[in-house]
Amino acid sequence: MKLYEKYPIHLSNSLTGAKEKFESILPGFVGMYVCGPTVYNYVHLGNTRTFLTFDIISRYFRFLGYKVRYVRNITDVGHLVDDADEGEDKIGKKARLEQLEPMEIVKRYTEDFHTVMRQFNILPPSIEPSATGHIVEQINITKKLINLGLAYEVNGSVYFDVKKYNQSHHYGILSGRNIEDLMESGRDLDSQDEKREKIDFALWKKASPEHIMRWPSPWGEGFPGWHIECTVMSTKYLGETFDLHGGGMDLKFPHHECEIAQATGAYGKSPVKYWIHSNMLTVNGQKMSKSLGNSFLPSELFSGNHKLLEKGYSPMTVRFFMLQSHYSSTLDFSNEALNAAEKGFKKLNNALASIKTLEHISGATVNSEVEKNLLDLIDKCYLNMSDDFNTAKTLAVLFEMTSQINTWISQKELLAEVSSEVFEKFKTTYISFMEDALGLKEETTGNNDLLEGTINVLIGLRKKVRTDKNFALSDKIRDDLKAIGIQLKDGKDGEMSYEIEN
Ligand SMILES: [Zn+2]
Repeated sequence: MKLYEKYPIHLSNSLTGAKEKFESILPGFVGMYVCGPTVYNYVHLGNTRTFLTFDIISRYFRFLGYKVRYVRNITDVGHLVDDADEGEDKIGKKARLEQLEPMEIVKRYTEDFHTVMRQFNILPPSIEPSATGHIVEQINITKKLINLGLAYEVNGSVYFDVKKYNQSHHYGILSGRNIEDLMESGRDLDSQDEKREKIDFALWKKASPEHIMRWPSPWGEGFPGWHIECTVMSTKYLGETFDLHGGGMDLKFPHHECEIAQATGAYGKSPVKYWIHSNMLTVNGQKMSKSLGNSFLPSELFSGNHKLLEKGYSPMTVRFFMLQSHYSSTLDFSNEALNAAEKGFKKLNNALASIKTLEHISGATVNSEVEKNLLDLIDKCYLNMSDDFNTAKTLAVLFEMTSQINTWISQKELLAEVSSEVFEKFKTTYISFMEDALGLKEETTGNNDLLEGTINVLIGLRKKVRTDKNFALSDKIRDDLKAIGIQLKDGKDGEMSYEIEN
């Protein structure tokens, strides 16, 4: 029996609003697509939470034995400053401001994005396609939608006809919005707009003379719309219907609603079986946003270099912190909560290091009650993760397991209460849930504190022997440290600092 049969996953499907049993389209295989970053700036923390959510989801599918194809795109064209199909392309604008080629912008911020993903131990997707690599496919599907009467061309741009689509399908099926309300709120549109209705959206936009990113098309030179790129890249690699589509909650409307309309219009069927949306971040109870000055970058969170932060936190502390909330809840950042997370993660981290070296001791009689309790804890790890990927509840079980590990460390004779089989099962479950399912790597920051403390003790000693004019010993301390790669520097007034040579 496969693990995914023993512990079937139930997930909250944003499309139906219900918690449903997950059943993959092809037995044993999962195809999932997640909207990737628009690479015109440093990746912010809110995005990082979204990618962490889907890292957990793809990890857990694999953990249970599914074969997963995870596609996450790079948006390197078509995302406009204004979501209503107006304004400059975000990447084009940045390129103009920084006097660089758009592809230089794309390269710089894609690299930053990948660095941050690695820092958080977020695994790379199976395929990471870029929008500019799929222009031909975007033109083809646009032609198809025109031929089907679901899109129209005006002055070199092509728009999706939402009203027409809604005659035979339901526009608003995902977001719960009503087309009449949407059309009503869009009435005060300026007369310059070339769309038939405000709710129509661009599949292809004509490039104005100053627009840098442009490609030839049947409608003249232009560039693709943002929504169509995800429809193309998801269905190209996962098929016309695939298992799971994810993204941040802010993408539900209009982006994901438009994706459903485009794919359903083009292929005659709903593209995605399960939709998952991860929630937002807040800071001290307020929405995190650049304009409020309360948003920080991952690098600022690591260094503590931000006015709202008391100090820096390690990537695994932040990862642990985020996993303490379910992905569908908002997550509030505060120094207090981060400090608590740091303490909590330290406990798990220490237990992880300890259990790796802990060996079973055979002895007298096995205590079946203790064994049953341990097997229950193992079971609960799976049941909690299979219940809508509940990392918060799974961590609570791992804390219970941590207490057991600490008991064994202080009272090794108690290891004899369980059979070696149960002990090994407990040990591998703890390690694999921490490292593989939750992606919490062992961190050695504790040792760094120890190292720093030790060097400071030696510096103190050296100051003392210098005051005593024992220069031979003072030199010996300096030279011996130098020999192992720690360089002491003598400053003014007898002060000393050190540098660790790499
Ligand atoms: Zn998308």
